[in-house]
Amino acid sequence: DIEKNQSYKDLMKLVDKTKQIGVRANAETPADAAVASKFGAEGIGLFRTEHMFYGEGSEEPLFLLRKMIVSKTEKERREALNALFVYVKKDVKDTLAVMNGHPVTIRLLDPPLHEFVPHDTEKLQELSKELGIRMSVLKRRVLALHENNPMLGHRGVRLGISYPEITEMQIRAIFEATVELIRKGKKALPEIMIPVVCGKHELRHQKDIVEQVYKETCEKMKVKKIPYLYGTMIEIPRAALKANSLAMEADFFSFGTNDLTQMSFGFSRDDIGGFLPKYLDLKLLPYDPFQTIDQSGVGELIKIGVERGRVTKPNLKIGICGEHGGDPDSVVFCHKIGMNYVSCSPFRVPIARLAAAHAALEFPRK
Ligand code: PEP
Ligand code: MG
Repeated sequence: DIEKNQSYKDLMKLVDKTKQIGVRANAETPADAAVASKFGAEGIGLFRTEHMFYGEGSEEPLFLLRKMIVSKTEKERREALNALFVYVKKDVKDTLAVMNGHPVTIRLLDPPLHEFVPHDTEKLQELSKELGIRMSVLKRRVLALHENNPMLGHRGVRLGISYPEITEMQIRAIFEATVELIRKGKKALPEIMIPVVCGKHELRHQKDIVEQVYKETCEKMKVKKIPYLYGTMIEIPRAALKANSLAMEADFFSFGTNDLTQMSFGFSRDDIGGFLPKYLDLKLLPYDPFQTIDQSGVGELIKIGVERGRVTKPNLKIGICGEHGGDPDSVVFCHKIGMNYVSCSPFRVPIARLAAAHAALEFPRK
């Protein structure tokens, strides 16, 4: 309960007056957002929507998503999507409500598609019964989703392009949730973020859907405007290099340094128990690049991304939402290169605020 301690409160007041970069938090649930807010987060820099398909309470949404992926008919897929919409809208609405007008960056569905379907025979049999699909047919459909390198495969925006109806459902949920809150006199500011983008055509493809759903929601709900921003993650090296053209289609960038590090070094971010810890112990690198931004490599890509993005749009809003957003040295780096905010896990928010204040004292921005 440190946030109730008066000395802490006084210190953090000073810290917030001093820092020149915003501090947001990553959240997976409305409850996370509430914790983040308590720790002084000025917004949610990454709301990972896929959490609803994992862990407690995920059975029904996961079943619906599976139904949507492997069902036989358009009608069944549509039914699944409509039911899923209710879950997504509630989740988004609760999070926007907790943040009370502070920006919430809602990232569209990201994880590899094959992660959603069961692979063991027993679970497949259950699904085959539930959906009325013959086992042999279901197995063929699941097999067709298999990938050898799922993290380099059918995820992020690629999913939204193969299944535009999934993007459409999420966008409709975001807009309707926003209007409903505003109608109740509350504030809501969603930022729609597209993951795993490597070129402007992908961003444009999804933006067409966003603009279409925006029009339809305004008509349906009889409103003239709905506040929102549209932006992209920069988490593939090519995206950093193509930042000038991506900025044409984006109101903001957020650097996903977890994937950017993985893809720049070619180190797997998921196999942390394997050779990597021992390899890092050899100190061929001065630090763990998944914890602290590798300033001479990944950092160069980030700098290029910031500079090129702002050549196209001088006021482009830029943040970071990888794990590095809560690492003090990385926060200083983000401050120095002109980012607008960092976003980290809720419990790291106070540390990030302190680091941001240190950065402002040591390297004041004009
Ligand atoms: C990232 O890649 O840095 C990121 C924030 O996204 P995720 O960790 O969900 O892939
Ligand atoms: Mg990522």
